[in-house]
Amino acid sequence: MGVRVIAIDGPAGSGKSTLAQAVADRLGLECLDTGAMYRAVAFAVLRAGGDPSDDDFAAAVARTIDVNVDAGQVLVDGVDATVEIRGPSVDRAVSLVAANPEVRAELVVRQREWVRRRGGGVVEGRDIGTVVFPDAEVKVHLVADPAVRAQRRVDQSGTPPPEGAGGGRTYDEAVESVAEDIARRDRIDSTRQASPLLKAPGAVVIDTTELTFDETVEQVMRLV
Ligand code: C5P
Repeated sequence: MGVRVIAIDGPAGSGKSTLAQAVADRLGLECLDTGAMYRAVAFAVLRAGGDPSDDDFAAAVARTIDVNVDAGQVLVDGVDATVEIRGPSVDRAVSLVAANPEVRAELVVRQREWVRRRGGGVVEGRDIGTVVFPDAEVKVHLVADPAVRAQRRVDQSGTPPPEGAGGGRTYDEAVESVAEDIARRDRIDSTRQASPLLKAPGAVVIDTTELTFDETVEQVMRLV
């Protein structure tokens, strides 16, 4: 109460991050990318040489690392991981770490604390409207056609990054590989036991497949 929260949930590449930032700017709030926190834990597990599916190890990492996701930068124990948390190794590991209930419990506490200290915020993720802030003032559930989501992800990252031996890939190859990663994470994220990606009660579904970015922002602003 008294804390203004806008919850934005949706699958990978649905446009949550850019939307959340734009809405936060319009409302004079700060924006929290909770996916970056799960990515930070996956990054720290890999960096420590751990196995992302080792639940006890990942839980211990989640409880002890220092994660700072402010100002567009992600610091993990003081190390700038902004670029690496978006790389292919973290892409592969993050959904395993995020399916771990102990990791989730720890990060949910930190997310609520982040919002409490700022008196509100625009918070984006998978379980914000269902678990983290079920009483949010506005809840948005973003969806978009998987092919469009993959394309947007590649467009956002600029030229397709070279992967493996042989180096550069064509645009279509990059889209295909991103589409595979998204499909795999969608499957794990929406079928896991702990806080699966679901439409929250009271959430408004916005399908961004055919909407421009500005139209999407306007739709959310109308709800606020
Ligand atoms: O949003 P982004 O794609 O960066 O999130 C990375 C991963 O973090 C997701 O695939 C999901 O496994 C996990 N995640 C989550 N709950 C959130 C935010 C992200 O499980 N609230």
